[in-house]
Amino acid sequence: MQHFLLIILLFCAWLGAQQPALAGSFRQSTDTAAMPLEIRRVDSVWMVNAPVLTRLLALQTRWNPGAHRLQAGKSFWTQDNPWVVVGDSVSKLPVPVRMIDGTLWAPLPAALAPLRQASGKELVFNPELLRIEAGAAKDMLSADLQSLDNGEMLEIRFSRKVKAEFFQNEPYSIIRFENTVLDTALLGQLQKKSSLFSRLLSVQDAKSAQITLQLRDICESAEMLRRDSGRTVQILLRKKASPPSTSSSSTSKAATGKGRIRTIVLDPGHGGKDPGAIGVKSLQEKDIVLAVALKLKKKLTAQGYQVKLTRDDDNFVELPDRPAMASKWEGDLFISLHCNAVDGAERQKKTEGFKFYILREAESEEDKAIARRENKAIELSASKKGKSEISPVEWILLENQLNTYTKESERFTGYLVESYEGGTIKKMSSGAGQAGFMVLVGAFMPAVLVEIGFITNPVDAAFMGTTKGQDDISTRLFKAIQSYSKAVGN
Ligand SMILES: [Zn+2]
Repeated sequence: MQHFLLIILLFCAWLGAQQPALAGSFRQSTDTAAMPLEIRRVDSVWMVNAPVLTRLLALQTRWNPGAHRLQAGKSFWTQDNPWVVVGDSVSKLPVPVRMIDGTLWAPLPAALAPLRQASGKELVFNPELLRIEAGAAKDMLSADLQSLDNGEMLEIRFSRKVKAEFFQNEPYSIIRFENTVLDTALLGQLQKKSSLFSRLLSVQDAKSAQITLQLRDICESAEMLRRDSGRTVQILLRKKASPPSTSSSSTSKAATGKGRIRTIVLDPGHGGKDPGAIGVKSLQEKDIVLAVALKLKKKLTAQGYQVKLTRDDDNFVELPDRPAMASKWEGDLFISLHCNAVDGAERQKKTEGFKFYILREAESEEDKAIARRENKAIELSASKKGKSEISPVEWILLENQLNTYTKESERFTGYLVESYEGGTIKKMSSGAGQAGFMVLVGAFMPAVLVEIGFITNPVDAAFMGTTKGQDDISTRLFKAIQSYSKAVGN
């Protein structure tokens, strides 16, 4: 008996920190039976037989004897080395991978993070049972890169809420995730698709993960948005705005209010196959706004302004082409002319008045509805390239244009309201509003959409439908332009 105890003691002393392999197990959520898997303790760290575990995870394994490296799927494990490479990312283990009894051992639970990436399976180590449980779920569900009008959006969806932080360190955008497993292989595929970043690098370690985007020069800015209660992370990349280069001096002067108003772009809404709103006595919006625009042009030209019209006859012009024309012509002011309308006999009688709009997210349902109606012209577009509503993401991408020109657009609407007050057509609410009018998107200059009155209201329509009324309206617009023009330095 003494002899036996001595052997045990000697054996334990010899083992020291390195204890023999224990009978652990591995179980997939889809399987009922557990498979045997050796687990042992080395220097008080749990370690797992790496080749066996990787085979149980159905990863194709290959041993490179020269490099002392095990390849398992897209992961690489090197003897006496704490770094594990999985696809394009690198994970660091707390202790190196070790060779014991002719096989590679990897530390638990740290080794499970790169293995999750390599296998796509959720892995959990249970030290009481000495068991590794493999589930089908993983944190990252998808990664997608969308191209937007003025940028790109990288969208990453997760199976649960994730903690993500965003840092900007020119020219890098860095997104750091806590306790999250990324699918680095999937992320790596996106880099070829982007025109705004040249490189996407993802690094995974046991507790955190990081995505680094190397932004190109043409990328103006990047920001992170969280949606879907934190289960979706979006990185918005804005392209640098490209206002017409030759006019940059005049537009920026106009934007700061110190420039001169030389070129005015008038945009009579609708036209051709698009009559716009149809009102009292079958009056058509497209005819009224064209008549007003032509009269206004005459008055402005006589005062020495350069005036451009997006249409000067009964032609259909696509919605997105209108602000594009204005920018191409290097306009200093863009005015889109429209008539308002409502449905329902009762509302038609009582809803009246003029209102001037700038491009900003609508604050009332009423303004939203008006923008929706005006944006309907997009449905008549042959190319179908436009959208009838501006999404929350697109609003953010528009910030650049909005920040530059909103103040001046607002200032101009102030003069419009002043000039219109006391006329036949009454003021609708405050006379000034904001909404997502597609026709104002992409006009790199102060831009206003004018609803000159309600074509569905008998009083407004009777006035707008006559030459006298159109004269009066264009005179008021003209006066407002002159006042604004004087104020900004003409
Ligand atoms: Zn209209």
